[in-house]
Amino acid sequence: MPWSLVVGKVAGTQIRIHFTFFLFLIWIWAAYYKQGGTEAAWQGVAFVVLLFACVLLHEFGHILVARRFGVKAPDVTLWPFGGIANLDQIPEKPSQEFFIAIAGPLVNVAIAAVLMLYLGSTADPAALMQLDESKTGLLAKLAGANLFLALFNMLPAFPMDGGRVLRALLALKFGFARATQLAASVGQGLAVMLGILGLFGNPMLVVIAIFVFLAASGEAGHAQLRQVARGAIVADAMITKFETLPPQASVADAMETLIRTTQTEFPIVDGGGKLRGVLTRDAMIRALRERGPDAPVLEVMDTEVPTVPARASLEVAVKALTEQGKSVLGVADTAGRLIGLLTVENLGEMMMLRAARPRPGTSGTKSSGSGPWDSAPR
Ligand SMILES: [Zn+2]
Repeated sequence: MPWSLVVGKVAGTQIRIHFTFFLFLIWIWAAYYKQGGTEAAWQGVAFVVLLFACVLLHEFGHILVARRFGVKAPDVTLWPFGGIANLDQIPEKPSQEFFIAIAGPLVNVAIAAVLMLYLGSTADPAALMQLDESKTGLLAKLAGANLFLALFNMLPAFPMDGGRVLRALLALKFGFARATQLAASVGQGLAVMLGILGLFGNPMLVVIAIFVFLAASGEAGHAQLRQVARGAIVADAMITKFETLPPQASVADAMETLIRTTQTEFPIVDGGGKLRGVLTRDAMIRALRERGPDAPVLEVMDTEVPTVPARASLEVAVKALTEQGKSVLGVADTAGRLIGLLTVENLGEMMMLRAARPRPGTSGTKSSGSGPWDSAPR
């Protein structure tokens, strides 16, 4: 993660602070200074620093429970909108996801409880929730903020912890993919409501709503793709009929092939049948504009396209495709010769076919991909 400062390592997890967080602190200082002078400014900064220490503890709630299930978290980053713990994988076993997800908000509840005990107050929640009340002491404000964090994170919408808790509970009955769809729909419904509320009140809510809506769709899409990929091998999904270009071809030759076929990605294959690179339609058009029709394809193709063996699991291939942000993968036989192509498009088609004729899925505790935990603004 560029632009972040490593401030320490706890239990094997690097703690990073994004530089925008420091800008955020300066902004807080200035905003409070304008209101109440230097003392108010430092108090404001102290509150935000304490609050984000609680956010960090929340993240470590997730991280430490995940660790118990054998899932590592290489790093956690603090942003002005919250913390993001980067988990190696998110377990598909509902009980594990449930405990990892709920651990974060529980940490905030625990902090609030400890603070309230310390303050010796019988804790009038109404008073605690009035965060802007300057009469309320710093610690009481912190307790209130922790309760708010717990509640906000338990909203049943991805990518909030509540969305994961909901999915885990639904997965007990409906299976992972269906549960994700249901939880995503609940989250999107909530996002729409949040957005409408925001239109009448706080514009920040609209931003959060859009974020939640998109995150929920993304989560649903990934879960579906994984469900399709499970139990299949690359050879089941690859395209076997496609045109290739020789290394000595020019952009003009590629254009001619583009017009003649429905293909949009052209592999460049050498005499030994090995994949040298891929020329996409977009790269072709760009090359035509910048270099002209005589430019050799070897100089304008993408040489970083990975190849996977035909017998590899489709799940691994999907991961390679999505993680590297490629639209196409080469498929090679044991001798390394190109025998197929795997594209995002044909995976999509396979997804539709499978959805039309569902197969019994194999359930298990396999990883469902890695990803950030808690990408929610708070
Ligand atoms: Zn969380």
